Amino acid sequence: MSNVPNDENYHSRFMTEAFKYADEAYNIGEVPIGCVFVHNGKVVAGGRNATNETKNGTQHAELIAINKLLSPQNSTHFTPQMFKETTLYVTVEPCIMCSYALRQLGNSDSHTTLFTF
Ligand SMILES: [Zn+2]
Repeated sequence: MSNVPNDENYHSRFMTEAFKYADEAYNIGEVPIGCVFVHNGKVVAGGRNATNETKNGTQHAELIAINKLLSPQNSTHFTPQMFKETTLYVTVEPCIMCSYALRQLGNSDSHTTLFTF
């Protein structure tokens, strides 16, 4: 059972954060996609597309945010269980590469809510 409140304002707050990342991507000529991961009501990582900037087609917003979560520099020490409890807010439905990564990390079950526009 998800611990995500059924509250439109709660979700809008995090979608706004995801759109800030998308806007940042747009302003530097990237495909305007952004996302945030939310755990226990807090943004724990965010990302935006960086494929043009890095000339690396794998640098999608979701993978960048996943890398931040799993980075040794992340003081949260994100565990696989925490990943299952995390909600992803993303401005565009994840591509098959990102969907599969999310699934492998356990972030595609009933605890995950994807908001797409
Ligand atoms: Zn992707």
